[in-house]
Amino acid sequence: MEIDTHAEDLASDLGVDKEEVKADLQNLLEYSVPLDEATQSLRRKYGDGSSGGGSSPSTKAIADISPDETAVNVTGVVLTAGERSIRYQGSDHVIVEGELADDTGVIDFTAWEDFGLSPGDTVEAGNAGVREWDGEPELNLGENTSLSFLDDGLEVPYEVGGEADLASLRTGDRAKTLEVAVLECEERTIDGRDGETTILSGVLGDESGRLPFTNWDPVPAIEAGASVRIENAYVREFRGVPEVNVSEFSTVTALEDAIDVGSEAPQMGIGEAIATGGVYDVELVGNLLAVRDGSGLIQRCPECRRVIQKGQCRTHGSVDGIDDLRVKAILDDGTGAVTVVLDDELTEAVYGGDVEDAKEEARDAMDQEAVADTIREHIVGSEYRVRGHLSVDEYGANLDSTTFDESDDDPVDRARSLLEAADEPVTEVSP
Ligand SMILES: [Zn+2]
Repeated sequence: MEIDTHAEDLASDLGVDKEEVKADLQNLLEYSVPLDEATQSLRRKYGDGSSGGGSSPSTKAIADISPDETAVNVTGVVLTAGERSIRYQGSDHVIVEGELADDTGVIDFTAWEDFGLSPGDTVEAGNAGVREWDGEPELNLGENTSLSFLDDGLEVPYEVGGEADLASLRTGDRAKTLEVAVLECEERTIDGRDGETTILSGVLGDESGRLPFTNWDPVPAIEAGASVRIENAYVREFRGVPEVNVSEFSTVTALEDAIDVGSEAPQMGIGEAIATGGVYDVELVGNLLAVRDGSGLIQRCPECRRVIQKGQCRTHGSVDGIDDLRVKAILDDGTGAVTVVLDDELTEAVYGGDVEDAKEEARDAMDQEAVADTIREHIVGSEYRVRGHLSVDEYGANLDSTTFDESDDDPVDRARSLLEAADEPVTEVSP
């Protein structure tokens, strides 16, 4: 959002000079202060004690809170509450994140003060700040919020506690409780905000699926092959897919019984999968429409492994390229399209030869493109079932494939089941 617009609104609310407010606001934002907090501290600086722009906030049911509001009074049950550390104005602060519910709905909250919130508490929050995140309203409970615990618990149609399975997790989820198997785990040294630090990263699995994780404060219970219960995990996006984050505030306990991990990836329609914003392990079925440029026999930079053109790496300049095979192809199921990327092994299988065969074909044809053309003849126009990591970013949707098999589904059945899943009447199905 535009700083200008915010500064203007704030200046007119407070009756002070816009440029002065804008300079202050920019200053705070440079220190990574969240916009809402920055706004509140400027209101305090310029002498407006409220966070509601002068008028007192109204009492709202959770479903009626709109992102346009500044502050509300709200009563609800704390479904989840988990601590997390953030860096704010140059020092570390512990905040509490979770979900609050009444009988109309659920809203995310962030508490900037230690109110002692626990799951199951019924609370009344007066003058709770409202901010927008990803188009949805969120509550900010800060020093301007008056919070009281009510003895009469509110009945809500939602489960208290953050129990979740991996397939249901989405970027932005917080205070989640998981029971999972640690499928892969390695120690890594990274340059953290406080210098070099050791973390664990790997892959978690349960019956519903798999997700990558990072453990910022390594605990012994997390090791390859272990099954663990993790309380107070949060989810953020990393390289285009949701990642489970286990922090110093998470509680990890070893489980005696091993967690079963499903061997199948969840199958989704391509449109549905893209809409989730990224899935670590998913199976997509669709028609292979085209093999894109940059497929077949390619050369990689020996330093950074990126694909090079005419012996030139964008980072390392003129280099002696290493020959490799890959395919980038477009898979479409009528609900959406992704670029599936096949590594050298999967490419060898669809090409029917290895990199030496490919070099020979290119030499004979005196054209490197001949290899891509052969692959096109083999796969374009057929239906494939592809499993892999789906990442979605501003450049499009890519499926980094782990398996790539010709599908034996009846395309009419598949189209019908996708339409039914999308809750649409089946009016016209063409194979
Ligand atoms: Zn390079």
